[in-house]
Amino acid sequence: MALDPARTVQELRELRELTGDENGAQRVAWTDTWEQARSWLRDKVASTGAVEEIDAAGNQWFTLGGGGGKALLIGGHIDSVPNGGWLDGCLNLVAGVEVLRRIAEEGAPPVPVRLVNWADEEGARFGRSLFGSSAAAGSMRDQDELAKLTDRDGVSLPDAIGRYGVSLDRALDARSQLENAGAYLELHIEQGPVLESMDIPLGVVLGTFGVERSRVTFRGQAAHAGSTPMDKRRDALAGAARLALEIREIARSMGGVCTMGSVVTRPGIVTSVVETAECLLDQRNLDADQLGGMLSQAKKAAQRAATEEDVEVEWERIWSIEPILFDETLIGFADDAIREVSGTSHKLPSGPLHDAAEVARAGVPTVMLFVQSLRGLSHTKLEDTKPEHLELSVAALDRLASRTLEWLAHS
Ligand SMILES: [Zn+2]
Repeated sequence: MALDPARTVQELRELRELTGDENGAQRVAWTDTWEQARSWLRDKVASTGAVEEIDAAGNQWFTLGGGGGKALLIGGHIDSVPNGGWLDGCLNLVAGVEVLRRIAEEGAPPVPVRLVNWADEEGARFGRSLFGSSAAAGSMRDQDELAKLTDRDGVSLPDAIGRYGVSLDRALDARSQLENAGAYLELHIEQGPVLESMDIPLGVVLGTFGVERSRVTFRGQAAHAGSTPMDKRRDALAGAARLALEIREIARSMGGVCTMGSVVTRPGIVTSVVETAECLLDQRNLDADQLGGMLSQAKKAAQRAATEEDVEVEWERIWSIEPILFDETLIGFADDAIREVSGTSHKLPSGPLHDAAEVARAGVPTVMLFVQSLRGLSHTKLEDTKPEHLELSVAALDRLASRTLEWLAHS
């Protein structure tokens, strides 16, 4: 039985029928629909003879071949956001099933091949993304905060995951799953507009952006909107506005992205000059030095803006994460695989975080493939990819898996 990429497209449609409605995919983690999707996946894998195991964090593993050696891992997530798209997360799994079928057909693989369905990648119900993969990677350190989370109906996270046999105390036992991992491959829709704008179906992901998130507060003086002449004002919003424009040039010049996602002004009434403007700034870059450079340039720009507007400015770091770079050998294999199936390849960073970033953080050589997203849309029922591009992506994942298996068998 040869690889049949058209079957993947058909099975993705089947999953959409089964677990979606007129508003989109409804496979939110730790719900009945999610469980239905997990058992659907189990049925699809059954014919390969792969052995299923659910680990301590709720991740669903299927292992083909019991021999020694470092395992090849292919992974994705079957959970979706509410009213989500039909491809985000599950493409990787359904394509992975097709690759497993092809490998199983050829006999016992030289090293174990494992398909993993990560639990709760989206964090849609409790607001904490990458649950299962961060547990397996050992980077989950916020159990105390997780214990306090509740969904909008007041159900606590421990109760919700407990229904699926998962507890926060034991979740980190899932680390043992990565002990024997030799490589991790993940195919995902791009969820952005880059490949479509270049008219290229597939790309290799170099890594995931590092992130610097800051609260930047400009402080001026509230004053009457009628009686204060323009040249006597200390307008905090004017400082914030200058920064909002400057970060665009900073991002462009340093190959990253900067977003001022929120500005809250006080007193926030139409009859007063703004006294404080509290901005939330998100900066991302694949290169750690450039990321640091973007932050220090933004700080300088904010200081200049404050001086010009006669206001003060103050910075506070809210959250940050280092860039995570994927494995150079696997990036080379992925680039070759894409060229073989579609002629042209492109290397690009990932803006969003993915389970693959957690696996890479745990020291497992990792790479991702992106397939073009139409209009760059995701996390909406409008999310889509051309069927012919989906088929190419399955073929590319299969080639990449073959090449990586060979590499693991000889290393
Ligand atoms: Zn995803």
